[in-house]
Amino acid sequence: MKKKNQIKTEIEKLRSNNFTTKRATVNALEKILYKSFKILDHGFVRVIDYMGNDSSIVQAARVSYGKGTKKLNQDKNLINYLISHRHSTPFEMNEIKFHIKLPIFVARQWIRHRTANVNEYSARYSILDKEFYIPKNANLKPQSKYNNQGRSGELSNEEIKNYSKILKDNSKIGFENYSKLLNEDESGKIIDDSKKGLARELSRMTLPLNAYTQWYWKIDLHNLMHFLSLRFDPHAQYEIRVYAEVMMEILKKWVPLTYESFLSNRLNSITMSSHGIEYIKSLIKRRKRVPKNISKRELETINKLFNC
Ligand SMILES: Cc1cc2nc3c(=O)[nH]c(=O)nc-3n(C[C@H](O)[C@H](O)[C@H](O)COP(=O)(O)OP(=O)(O)OC[C@H]3O[C@@H](n4cnc5c(N)ncnc54)[C@H](O)[C@@H]3O)c2cc1C
Repeated sequence: MKKKNQIKTEIEKLRSNNFTTKRATVNALEKILYKSFKILDHGFVRVIDYMGNDSSIVQAARVSYGKGTKKLNQDKNLINYLISHRHSTPFEMNEIKFHIKLPIFVARQWIRHRTANVNEYSARYSILDKEFYIPKNANLKPQSKYNNQGRSGELSNEEIKNYSKILKDNSKIGFENYSKLLNEDESGKIIDDSKKGLARELSRMTLPLNAYTQWYWKIDLHNLMHFLSLRFDPHAQYEIRVYAEVMMEILKKWVPLTYESFLSNRLNSITMSSHGIEYIKSLIKRRKRVPKNISKRELETINKLFNC
């Protein structure tokens, strides 16, 4: 693995490149191209490349020869119309490529999004870094009593200290065994000249799920918004949501009109069942009646919305 200074120099070298192009570029995104946004203790997100801007979506929707755009307001209305009516294909014309470093247990959730193109760092070919995700104390919480898939409540300081130590020790032991099997230390030096060591593709079995991996991840704008609508959501696990938060900021820089429309038509909107509508009607008539079949989550959402 490359040292931090070497990585910095390579990024600076890339950023000093300038190309003239006839293709659409976005100033705000050019400014952050290749830069690394730190996430968790060792992770990051970087934009490596992109294709298209807000105007490209308008162009594709109109199947136009020329610029395709009219007035900014008209473009904004068209993008809003496309998003609100789920006319998704114009958004598939825009693409973005990220370089992401993430813990393996986060990568397992991430890879379920099948509509991206992925190339992962090969631990058959290369040796993984001694880097493990150890949650900050504030993020160590007990199993939620209400949501089987989440954490909530507080732990005592003693428990936090103890669990954090177990996570650290487990990571340390996992890496020590990895080194022993490889017969190489962290710097790549052979530990015992009389031994051959086990192949990398097998030695990695001792590494825990909080070890970091890396990949290049390319996705079109439509599917990126789908990913973000699931992973930026408060119900998503904290460790993947923090990546989605940074990617939302990147989306804002890349396609600001689409971002605004995505916020109002998707993230800040709600989809409702017929039971939900029935319940809202009863609230408006000030005769609150909770339908028998309404889900707990929907009831919670509506009550929050109506402050009741
Ligand atoms: C909060 C949360 C909890 C979750 N819990 C679990 C869990 O407990 N267990 C678990 O296994 N997963 C779980 N998942 C993963 C989830 O079920 C999805 O696999 C994941 O969110 C990817 O969504 P997707 O399939 O819509 O995305 P993508 O794979 O990006 O697909 C986008 C869309 O393309 C279409 N599509 C893509 N591939 C196919 C295909 N082969 N066939 C048909 N249509 C396709 C679908 O319409 C899909 O919605 C969870 C996800 C979230 C956000």
